[in-house]
Amino acid sequence: MSRTIAKAAIRGAHSYVSQAEEELTQAIESHNPERELAFPNTAYHLPLILALTGLEVDNLGQAQQALQHAKKLLPPEPTDQMWLPYLGGTLDAGIATLMAQEIIEALRYFRGEEPEEPWLGFTDDTILRTQGIKLVDGRMPGFAACVGALPTNEQAVELARSLQERSILVFMASNASGRSMAEQLAEAGIEMNWDTFLVPYGKQTSAAVYALNFAARAAMTFGGVKPGDLDAARKILMYNKERVFAFVLALGADFKPEENGSQLLTDEKYATAAGAINFGFPVISDSTIPQILPRGICTYEHVVSGVSLKEIVNKAVEVRGVKIKVSEIPIPVPYGAGFEGERVRKEQMHVQFGGKYTDSFELLRGRSMDEVEDGNVELIGPDIDEVDEGTALPLAVVVEVAGRSFKEDFESVLERRIHHFASCTFGVFHMGQRDIPWVRISKEAFEKGFRLKHYGEVMVAKFHDEFSAIVDKVQVKIYTDEDKVAELLEQARDIYRQRDERIMGMKDEDVDTFYSCVLCQSYAPDHVCVVTPQRLGLCGAYTWLDCGASHEMDPHGPNQPIQKGEVQDEVNGIFAGVNEYVTRASNGNLERVSMYSIMTDPQTSCGCFEVIAAVLPEANGVMLVSREYQGDTPIGMGFSTMAGQIGGGLQMPGFLGIGKLYITSEKFISAEGGLRRVVWMPNELKEEIKDRLQERLEQMGETDLLDKIATEQDATTSEQLLEVLQNKGHPALEMEALV
Ligand code: SF4
Ligand code: ZN
Repeated sequence: MSRTIAKAAIRGAHSYVSQAEEELTQAIESHNPERELAFPNTAYHLPLILALTGLEVDNLGQAQQALQHAKKLLPPEPTDQMWLPYLGGTLDAGIATLMAQEIIEALRYFRGEEPEEPWLGFTDDTILRTQGIKLVDGRMPGFAACVGALPTNEQAVELARSLQERSILVFMASNASGRSMAEQLAEAGIEMNWDTFLVPYGKQTSAAVYALNFAARAAMTFGGVKPGDLDAARKILMYNKERVFAFVLALGADFKPEENGSQLLTDEKYATAAGAINFGFPVISDSTIPQILPRGICTYEHVVSGVSLKEIVNKAVEVRGVKIKVSEIPIPVPYGAGFEGERVRKEQMHVQFGGKYTDSFELLRGRSMDEVEDGNVELIGPDIDEVDEGTALPLAVVVEVAGRSFKEDFESVLERRIHHFASCTFGVFHMGQRDIPWVRISKEAFEKGFRLKHYGEVMVAKFHDEFSAIVDKVQVKIYTDEDKVAELLEQARDIYRQRDERIMGMKDEDVDTFYSCVLCQSYAPDHVCVVTPQRLGLCGAYTWLDCGASHEMDPHGPNQPIQKGEVQDEVNGIFAGVNEYVTRASNGNLERVSMYSIMTDPQTSCGCFEVIAAVLPEANGVMLVSREYQGDTPIGMGFSTMAGQIGGGLQMPGFLGIGKLYITSEKFISAEGGLRRVVWMPNELKEEIKDRLQERLEQMGETDLLDKIATEQDATTSEQLLEVLQNKGHPALEMEALV
């Protein structure tokens, strides 16, 4: 390896450790060591320090101990004569750097220096979990940590677009001679947030630590790796090397004339890079820095330099071994998951459809082979170049598919994908489904030549692409003619109604087969979701019908049919076939699992649950807390803390990760009495599911229970809650003891 790099990295590490020490001493001198030091909204203390050392740093004094630890890792300051034959010292210097950087960044929050636009700073646990599922289901094949800046704003936009097109999450930190990629994108008017896959962390190089403490938490959250000793640290690093396909793009070298006049990155950046290499994340640079090619920690090369900006994304993907599926769709604008969350504001809009302005609907139907002309896109009504800018047009999108193994049940599953397919188009904003879609097309997309025909092309290409096993032919009819849309809308509504009646009526007892989902095993290796008609996957994204369709498409994929077999316990919902399957699929870690109980052999959780149900013994009931809620709960833990304890594929009686739809299912913890047990949920969740909840309570003959379920507005401690429940006469208090 290059001695120059090793020395620079070690020098950089020394300088970070001294900086952290200085700032920490200052903080302790003006406050006491017991003062809290923390990032907002995380249950992982200072996450990287926790992951690497097992130390739980919550205050200034503990940070000092952690820093001592980092100091011990520091190799001596390099001299000219020094011979550094091994990567080991450099890697240790990298770890020391990351620990020091995390303290430096946490101290910013301590001093009240909240990140300013466009910077976002620390990623909290809530976002970590929502983004985690994208890593799990492959929507996000990896992430790029972009450090530095590009020669021009246009090149910065180009780089961002080419990463977005590959659905690679983009983290940005640091600067090159005072310029940073995120500022360049901001100047070019690019929207940056988690939804657009563009995440600006901070202008200092130390802000790059946020990308790594995100990665470390992913291992702890989804991989169920419990931090503690060196062995755990190694597991966390290995987990990242094997499962998180990330890489660093070091952009635009800083000029350091004393180093032989050649262009070199700063010592600080080398030190940070050495930290990233510990995670198996290679560094790719557009500058002529020394390379580290041999394999060792990283899967392939460690540092590859002098790569032209045109080639840099391809090179990075190759070196990190990122698996990417790029769809070739014949449209004049870019396409990819990175554009999914992009909004089109009123000023940017060329036309819009639906929403509160016009009639609109989307419908997907299965047809016979001879009824579908594959690839045909037909427009009935005016196109978007025939109307004035700012117009609202009616819109009906009717997708017709044919395939030998297509079943009518799959229609709604495929139809729901229209939203995702449309949203991934650059310049297209899409919301809603069925008869409530709202679509906008931007001026920029229009100017690039995007027309409604292309909207149809996207559907044709994507349905072929993702559903090739069940779909042989696709055709699309797009209507913008007002009368025609109004007429067809009535027919579509009839179809939606029939579908609902069929699905709502479907009971677990009516089927012999449940489905498994092991998609999350890429993160939580022992976790299995068992999905039944009345209980969807805990992430809320996979219903029994979805799993069935997915199995049909990919018979060896993550969703397998499970024959229920003999009923071993009707009340708890324990089936011989399910136990058999789960034993196998959990690698022997789980032998019995119930479908309807929170206390007896409950299902496990990976980490992507929408809601956590938790038993409150004092109230003899169950509280529900959704991912969005960040406040206190009567159990004394927030969502993040609880999530940290129940994730990772463990069975924990008293706790259950669930999808929101399950709450109003007849089978919702029916073994314990169902909704009658629910004593508390956040107001936001209650409002969100109110209509369904009310309907279900009416069926149960518990019309006034809705009002008896407390929220944070009534109580946030168990004492307060108990009082409220007694005043309201909540039925849980009179029920059989839960524990
Ligand atoms: Fe993961 Fe379960 Fe959702 Fe499948 S259903 S993606 S295993 S949480
Ligand atoms: Zn999951």
